[in-house]
Amino acid sequence: MSGIFGAYSAAGKTVLEEVYLGLYALQHRGQESAGIAWAENGHVASARGMGLLHNAVDQHGLSLKEGRCAIGHVRYVPIESSQLHNILPICANYARGPVAIAHDGLVTNITELSRQLEARGAIFQSTTNSEAILHMMAQKSHMEPVDALVDALKKLQGSYAIVVLLEDALVAARDPWGFKPLVLGERDGTYYAASESCALDIVGARLLRDVEPGEIVVIGAKGMKSLRVRQDNGERRMHCSFEYVYTARPDSIIDGRSVYEARKEMGRRLARKAPCPGAELVAGMPDSGTISAIGYAQAAEIPFEMAVVRNRYVGRTFIQPTQKVRELGVRIKLNPIAELFKDRSAVIVDDSIVRGTTAERIVSMIRNCGAGEVHLRIASPPVLHPCRYGIDTRKEETLAAVRMTLDELCKKVGANSLDYLTEEDLVAAIGLPEERLCTACFSGKYLEG
Ligand code: AMP
Ligand code: SF4
Repeated sequence: MSGIFGAYSAAGKTVLEEVYLGLYALQHRGQESAGIAWAENGHVASARGMGLLHNAVDQHGLSLKEGRCAIGHVRYVPIESSQLHNILPICANYARGPVAIAHDGLVTNITELSRQLEARGAIFQSTTNSEAILHMMAQKSHMEPVDALVDALKKLQGSYAIVVLLEDALVAARDPWGFKPLVLGERDGTYYAASESCALDIVGARLLRDVEPGEIVVIGAKGMKSLRVRQDNGERRMHCSFEYVYTARPDSIIDGRSVYEARKEMGRRLARKAPCPGAELVAGMPDSGTISAIGYAQAAEIPFEMAVVRNRYVGRTFIQPTQKVRELGVRIKLNPIAELFKDRSAVIVDDSIVRGTTAERIVSMIRNCGAGEVHLRIASPPVLHPCRYGIDTRKEETLAAVRMTLDELCKKVGANSLDYLTEEDLVAAIGLPEERLCTACFSGKYLEG
């Protein structure tokens, strides 16, 4: 997963610091590298690096530059593709001027497309989807840049939300299934495109709307124009349900639905489906389980306590790529308040179980506080299938719910009881029609069948 942000000022004001701020609000979507690109005197310029945004991009240096149009990217990648040359946006000056591209998602036919491009002479510097799109544009240099981009996007399969910087335009597009979120905002004649609406809030922009699945929005001096990639999927959409479970920030609104409200409703439904009579407190795994825990506590009429404290200055455990770092990370990051747990029966709510590492560690920490009982409740269904659309849910054989039965997993994590939300309740809690959601990592219902 990644976070993308773009800004274009019709009034000709510089937008570079706003892009920096927008990325800052999207840092939860990727902490491995960050980059910003803009057009400067007819050429593309960029600032980029590894790590968190403030390490990767020098904010002061950026404030000395100018650009009325800019895009940026924060990236999460598995360790194997964690390399300098894969930092986005990918930038080039081609026959038709400057171009920079940043995307979130996974183009499923990228290998085939890259082979075709290489056969026609393209030389790749990275293994990113964005670079393949760039080469496709470059090979159509007889076309206007926007037309070449539309032509390239038509060939992509799988998931993408993308922002593209052209000489004097910002383009934002979303795949026809709408897997990845992408919203549009505006403030004082500056237009924005962002992975999540929380990034619009930080720059004081108002949310205009979501980019529609299959839509290409071109923003330039003459305002906003909407084009379409392809739309042969009728009413079917594949908005990622995991965004509402885990990926997105709770203060974001995605495809018209508040992530906060969705998470709270997941908790309420979980309380009804998997009650825990006799429990004396409900606590959430911060931050992703907290809101569902509030919903659970309200519906179950059990007191909610902020009984597990998170060190705010440590990134998301899962996002730090290696297993070793991840194992250490949980201990660094979370600390239960012993007095609240001692001799009491507690319900612990987390958003999901992937490999089961987090659950096992947290239950053992709470047991070490002298808890009477620890009942684990998960505010999503079991993750049974890997994601094919850009979320790192790991290989099937590493997924805890694949490797073990519910009872075995409960024993392994050391809980008194363990239960999940049903797929039906997840869909109902998100509140979008079932035919508009992707639930493949839970249900196995991929696009192909
Ligand atoms: P695990 O320890 O492998 O079971 O991972 C589960 C924890 O990681 C949960 O508490 C989630 O908050 C978080 N998580 C779940 N899915 C993902 C994902 N695809 N990317 C990053 N973090 C995740
Ligand atoms: Fe999202 Fe899961 Fe679908 Fe991947 S498989 S897009 S994580 S819902």
